[in-house]
Amino acid sequence: MDFSFPPEVEAFRTEVREFLAANLTDEMIAATHDGTIHAPELHAAMAARGWIAGPVPEELGGAGRSALESVVLNEEMQLAAAPVDAMAVSIVVASILLEHGSPHLKDSVVPRLLDGSALGCFGYSEPESGSDVAAAQTKAVRDGDEWVINGAKMWTTLAHISDYVILLTRTDPDVAKHKGLTFFLVPLDTPGIEIQPVPTMAVERSNATFYDDVRLGDEWRVGDVNGGWAVMKTALKYERGIAGGQFPSPTVIDAALDWAQTAERADGSRPIDDPTVREKLMRSLIDVEVCRGFAYHTASLAEEGVMFGVEGSMTKLFASESYKRHCREFQDMMGVDGLITHHNDDAHLGGRIEENLRHSPVTTIYGGTSEISRNLVAEGHLGLPRTR
Ligand SMILES: Cc1cc2nc3c(=O)[nH]c(=O)nc-3n(C[C@H](O)[C@H](O)[C@H](O)COP(=O)(O)OP(=O)(O)OC[C@H]3O[C@@H](n4cnc5c(N)ncnc54)[C@H](O)[C@@H]3O)c2cc1C
Repeated sequence: MDFSFPPEVEAFRTEVREFLAANLTDEMIAATHDGTIHAPELHAAMAARGWIAGPVPEELGGAGRSALESVVLNEEMQLAAAPVDAMAVSIVVASILLEHGSPHLKDSVVPRLLDGSALGCFGYSEPESGSDVAAAQTKAVRDGDEWVINGAKMWTTLAHISDYVILLTRTDPDVAKHKGLTFFLVPLDTPGIEIQPVPTMAVERSNATFYDDVRLGDEWRVGDVNGGWAVMKTALKYERGIAGGQFPSPTVIDAALDWAQTAERADGSRPIDDPTVREKLMRSLIDVEVCRGFAYHTASLAEEGVMFGVEGSMTKLFASESYKRHCREFQDMMGVDGLITHHNDDAHLGGRIEENLRHSPVTTIYGGTSEISRNLVAEGHLGLPRTR
């Protein structure tokens, strides 16, 4: 099998590497480890090159880059530890609007998301519903030409730096739960919205968002009234597609390798001399290769016009579970060195192992938990019966 990419894709990879070498600073990487996974200057520089608009077809206002180029961009950013979250979420929000949005949203919001002047975030989960997203209770009620929204969302990550939230609401409480949902794109400066921080045990800040008599015109509706489930399916399709390019954090492997090569044991040996340490490191590098294979497979399906479905869930499940496993194994093999906290200069690569150990479980929850991903793979790929 030939896994090489066409020359233009490899040329693009070189361009991305040069761009990151020139524009991604240590301060930007460090800042993303203090709460919000976004670097505004980097985002602006990428938007100026048309890379935020990259995966969106040209006829819809995007740059029409191939799926292979998108996967290469994503891969290089992750290998360089560049923040990808705000960029990825904004691309998904723009893609949803391009499929289901009104002319108002396509003309006034999508260009701002694609040129990097605005950010979007996801408002699906609530205090009482996450995996069962269709159980959302935030209400939207029609009042003349307007809608009035009341309710609370949980885990609205990036809301505190975003301009818009794509909000899942209930518009008919008297029908089956999937049939009474409607989506809106809500400008976050609309009166009646409150954003409260939710710190996590990981580095990441999320938010609780509250909607108290928030009034919106009908032009902010996304898709049909009570047709929200179709929009949700589109949203999940794009989110899983992006997740299909996920890698276990390469920086954590770098940190473990650095420790293995430089730490000195009481008998004067180095950890790398120990075959069990070498095996753990090799297994983690093999997992990265497996993820690369998944990501390229997903991208090649997209190139052939096959819209990926369960493939994104397979990658997300494998990448996040192996990331969590690597962190645990590395901390275990490093002993005290693996416990030194982030930002401590004595720690190998600034405490990356400890920090990633706290961050890795989160990746097995957001974007669909591992249990939900396993259900999707079991049903969608292995043909096993539905369990729910
Ligand atoms: C840091 C972070 C950031 C997030 N960002 C966002 C965001 O930006 N926007 C947003 O809308 N949401 C966001 N989420 C929410 C995330 O999508 C949900 O937390 C996730 O879908 C799980 O939902 P839940 O927390 O309600 O748990 P539950 O759905 O209550 O699940 C609890 C447990 O039960 C298991 N479970 C549930 N249903 C099944 C089933 N059918 N079969 C087997 N096991 C099952 C789950 O796997 C889990 O282990 C974020 C979450 C976190 C932690």
